[in-house]
Amino acid sequence: MPQNTIPTFSSRVLDWFDQHGRKDLPWQKNPSPYRVWVSEIMLQQTQVATVIPYYQRFMQRFSSLKRLALADQDEVLHYWSGLGYYARARNLHKTAQLIHAQHRGRFPAGIEDLVALPGIGRSTAAAILSLSRGQHHAILDGNVKRVLARHQAIDGWTGEAKVMQYLWALSEDLTPSLRTADYNQAMMDLGATLCTRSKPDCGHCPVAEDCLALCEDRVMQLPTPKAKKSLPLRDTVMLVIEQENGILLERRPPSGIWGGLWSLPECESKDAIAQACKQRWGMQVQQLSALTPWQHTFSHYRLHVYPYAVNLLAGADRVMDDQRYIWYNSNTSQKLGLAAPVKYLFNQYNTA
Ligand code: SF4
Repeated sequence: MPQNTIPTFSSRVLDWFDQHGRKDLPWQKNPSPYRVWVSEIMLQQTQVATVIPYYQRFMQRFSSLKRLALADQDEVLHYWSGLGYYARARNLHKTAQLIHAQHRGRFPAGIEDLVALPGIGRSTAAAILSLSRGQHHAILDGNVKRVLARHQAIDGWTGEAKVMQYLWALSEDLTPSLRTADYNQAMMDLGATLCTRSKPDCGHCPVAEDCLALCEDRVMQLPTPKAKKSLPLRDTVMLVIEQENGILLERRPPSGIWGGLWSLPECESKDAIAQACKQRWGMQVQQLSALTPWQHTFSHYRLHVYPYAVNLLAGADRVMDDQRYIWYNSNTSQKLGLAAPVKYLFNQYNTA
């Protein structure tokens, strides 16, 4: 078919959406700005199938923005526990509180107001307003970047400012003013189901006919990956201190890894454990036993965790006065947001 007789990009995408697009995802029912916002934040860095049960549980508990705004951060983190990237949950909570306080609980209807809120970038704001209110805004999430970078054979890492600027211009140009919500949903679906990172199904793609990456046999080379750096390695010693009333947990600082979550207390080395227990909690260590170490990989470094079971001679009265610490028992304690090492430990040793 000569180039000028191919239907427009958006009409092919919309036709495909009408036949194959996902239309029964939980957040597509009654797509209020609040419901779409929560889904969009959960879907950042997490796949749809993983998100669905988390979303349903979250919405059952926080069925409105007001409920989320008035909830305790610990409980919000508890319902997020397992999804990772906890800054998303903290920002979600903070933003709900801001909207509740500053916008009388009503979601802002302008894109500028939305991007001013914590955790809402330009693409997320555009998705919220287009999917819930039908406003005409282009989106550029990871899926859309991949489809466009391949379809137009755009070289360069998509996180680079110049490449990003070009992709935004392209996305704006292609996004139709009619059926914007369907088109945006379709582009996300296309990237998630056909134009996937590792096994693109070009044979069923509605825009294959003029896809430059396919034509140039460069599908697997695009989008251009970020130049690789080897991840630095860090070590930490974690203390597993268990008594009748549970295991000792420490709340982590609000920012940084596992920010605001409850984790095992840490120490710089095995040799420093006895002294740390005495100074921090007035505990006398009787015996230390090394447990199996494990590795946790973050986006910017790898952490080697060396856990030690600490047997005590004396009690730990000082700990109970300090709100940074808790004796946690999964059967009786309140719902808390637990950091990955604690969950790992529970799985490994079936403790607390
Ligand atoms: S033809 Fe293949 S590479 Fe091109 S947009 Fe479609 S799925 Fe992606």
